[in-house]
Amino acid sequence: MDKVIAPVLYAPKKIRIERFPTPKVGEREALVRMVGSAVCGTDKHVFKAGEIRLGLPGDVVKLPIILGHENVGVIEDVGSIAAVEMATEGEPLEVGERVVISADIVCGQCYYCKNIYGFPWCLNHRSYGDVMSSKDPPHLFGGFAEKMFVLPGTYMFRVPERMSNETAALTEQMAVAYGSFGRAFQYPNAKEGYAPADTVVVQGVGPLGMCNALMARMLGASKIIAIDRSSYRLEMAKALCGAETINIEEETEERDRVEDVLSRTGGIGADVVVECTGFPHILSEGLDMMRNGGTYLVEGAYSEKEPTKISASRQILAKNARIIGVSGMPYQAYGRALKMMDAYASIIPFQKMVTHVFGQEDATEAMETSMGTDSMKVVVGRMKS
Ligand SMILES: [Zn+2]
Ligand SMILES: [Zn+2]
Repeated sequence: MDKVIAPVLYAPKKIRIERFPTPKVGEREALVRMVGSAVCGTDKHVFKAGEIRLGLPGDVVKLPIILGHENVGVIEDVGSIAAVEMATEGEPLEVGERVVISADIVCGQCYYCKNIYGFPWCLNHRSYGDVMSSKDPPHLFGGFAEKMFVLPGTYMFRVPERMSNETAALTEQMAVAYGSFGRAFQYPNAKEGYAPADTVVVQGVGPLGMCNALMARMLGASKIIAIDRSSYRLEMAKALCGAETINIEEETEERDRVEDVLSRTGGIGADVVVECTGFPHILSEGLDMMRNGGTYLVEGAYSEKEPTKISASRQILAKNARIIGVSGMPYQAYGRALKMMDAYASIIPFQKMVTHVFGQEDATEAMETSMGTDSMKVVVGRMKS
């Protein structure tokens, strides 16, 4: 009766359903009954490759694991110290509250945590849904499970009352976009970086690209140009962000696409280009679409699967390019992303980004659906709070 069902990835592309005992919760820990866990690009890389090295220092996947780090749930149990430590605002957390759980845990004790910035450089960084194996008790370290165990050092963010579960499930990815645009804000003397009324190109409008396009819209971009091979996704970018679109199935030549972006930006190029494709070779095209002194946010090229050729003199030096690499987000961005989505809820139907929901037992189908081009955000869970 008190067994927790969880899909466990035990080999590349191989998931089986396992049952784990409901863990006891200590004073500095919590247990969350999952509402839903959205499939991320990271989950797709791990599902396909198994024990790979991820984008952060020390992050090596150890199978078996329970996937899922974009997590919304309801607190089922919380220790008395955790209720204070894990809350980010207001009163201590309570049983029954709906929360988004930060994906990452930083130690607060290493050189980076004490002197630079904890995330993403913490030398003892851990994250749910990938680097913590389900073979170690209490096993439930991924959001695809019915319940998730929450370790000391994790932060939990209350979901605004009127927000749908679907919108809340986008928080982690919207926080990436928040953190990324936050770092891109303008350096006023040189007109570098993002400023309201800028033109923004998003290469790849899967879920991460869509969240970036939505962030650009909320931050007042004057023009958003979405590039993808899926007309399904481009239609959504048009509907939710008012984006102009370029379909690479129709404009197959890189040169033509660059020309197209230049002509849509008065011959100048985009102020900001955001890479969300997962394909490193796309960087050269993105740099050519960016104006002189423009900003390039590189977010999707997560695994080193192919060599990347760019010109150091023409594309970086001569252009005075500002290139910002983005892996994940500071945890402070979660609360901000929730507040922005709440404030824009009557203008932007964020929940429409969640196109598919699967139960725990159908996690394999969820992963396969998320890798197709006729889906946007895929969620594992019941989506009931
Ligand atoms: Zn993610
Ligand atoms: Zn640290």
